[in-house]
Amino acid sequence: MLQRFKLFGAIVPSRRCLRCNGLLEPVSKGEVLHRLEPKTRQYYHEFAICRTCDRVYWKGSHYQHLQRRLEGLRRRLGLPRHGPVITL
Ligand SMILES: [Zn+2]
Repeated sequence: MLQRFKLFGAIVPSRRCLRCNGLLEPVSKGEVLHRLEPKTRQYYHEFAICRTCDRVYWKGSHYQHLQRRLEGLRRRLGLPRHGPVITL
């Protein structure tokens, strides 16, 4: 699950579908709301859809933000870089 968030966050700026390489088209949240998991609905606000294979992508800004803060915190505390994953 977390891996998927990370992956999608990295993919969306490229505007290409990971699965079929089709062009992604930005859509409103309302258009894809029924297909999202609760956490995705809560934390993500920008979405795109592949018009070729109908896969939904979202921008992972919130998650990436959190990851960066955790990285900094780990460094300050002297924890290993790959500590336990904290879910949202
Ligand atoms: Zn596609």
